[in-house]
Amino acid sequence: MPAFLSQITGHQSQTSQTTILVVDDDRIIRELCTQALRNYRIVQAATSEEALRLYEMEPPDLILTDIIMPGGSGIDLLRQVKAIDPNATVVLMTGFVNKEVILSALKEGADDFINKPLNILQLRTSIEKALGRKALKQELADIKRSDELKNTFLSLVSHKLRTPITGISLFLQNLRMGVFNPEDPIFRQSIEMASEEARYLGQLVGELLEFSQVMVNGTEVNKSTCDLNEIVADVLIKCREEHGNFDVELETAPEVLPPVPLDASKISFTLHQVIDNAFKFSDGPGRISLKLGRHDDSVFIVVSDSGIGIPESEIPKVFEKFYQVDPNQTGQIRGFGLGLFYARDFIRQHGGSIGIVSEPGLGTTVTISLPLQ
Ligand code: ATP
Ligand code: MG
Repeated sequence: MPAFLSQITGHQSQTSQTTILVVDDDRIIRELCTQALRNYRIVQAATSEEALRLYEMEPPDLILTDIIMPGGSGIDLLRQVKAIDPNATVVLMTGFVNKEVILSALKEGADDFINKPLNILQLRTSIEKALGRKALKQELADIKRSDELKNTFLSLVSHKLRTPITGISLFLQNLRMGVFNPEDPIFRQSIEMASEEARYLGQLVGELLEFSQVMVNGTEVNKSTCDLNEIVADVLIKCREEHGNFDVELETAPEVLPPVPLDASKISFTLHQVIDNAFKFSDGPGRISLKLGRHDDSVFIVVSDSGIGIPESEIPKVFEKFYQVDPNQTGQIRGFGLGLFYARDFIRQHGGSIGIVSEPGLGTTVTISLPLQ
């Protein structure tokens, strides 16, 4: 059942996780609300100041606040909370109907009003409706975000594909127009460049298929006992094939590891992304080292390269969807900027961690740690 439906129907397991911040200077009213809304997790505050402090520490799902309180009014609280999060849900309790107050509360974005003295049924219905509307808004925002992501992805894909296609088609046009002299070394160079673009195009399409598979399958992990050395060995063979001509020395230090509970395909995908990056960003002759080991209740995999490195300020960003370090804003960095996003997601789903240490011009080290249990 979607969260908002269960909240509308007052479904116990959903509502019990929902937190409501009840703000009233009158302790009896706070207790009454706590009793009436016992299916929810209730946090109480006696002043708007205390409420704001609690809100900043842990934003609740809904604020139910009195309007007139010593120190600061419920309208002040409403204004301050909406300034922090315009989507915050605030229901006001009012002892009297003053048109001015109601208008100013509506202007500030109040979600509902409840008259005092409180009617328990009315209170519950109003809270359930406000939470339902909030969940609905959230779902709509998620749909909008997912649409935006789809659009970003589509325009990124078309942009990325267009670059190698342009290179190949220019070469073919020149060939057809007889521009090349077969004896000219430039001709040979152009063939090499066009072949490289065709290889890259194939690789991009392969990556697209791989990422779309991940999107379809979702990020849920299905663990079974696996031999990590075997997974690493398979990934290395694949990376070696893909980066065959690369003048990169590869050192591996396999270690006898106990069997690890893993989703083999997701860990294999993750390692592929990390090792692929090590090759891709080596940018010429270099060295990649791969170490496996065990530390307490975890196993770790360390992939180091002697490549271009990542500036410190960029390191947290490289895990974001579609992010690529592109200092000159060329839009020509190879790949989609998705590998590390999914790598981190999968590692987190396994209860593990992934970290990067890097020095521009010297290289990058990626450490993955996975729990043995
Ligand atoms: P994709 O993985 O989708 O093919 P990508 O490799 O560009 O594309 P990520 O793997 O998510 O995307 O990496 C994001 C960015 O982080 C890269 O574009 C690159 O700028 C930087 N990066 C990642 N690994 C390395 C590395 N080993 N050395 C230098 N930069 C790296
Ligand atoms: Mg990558």
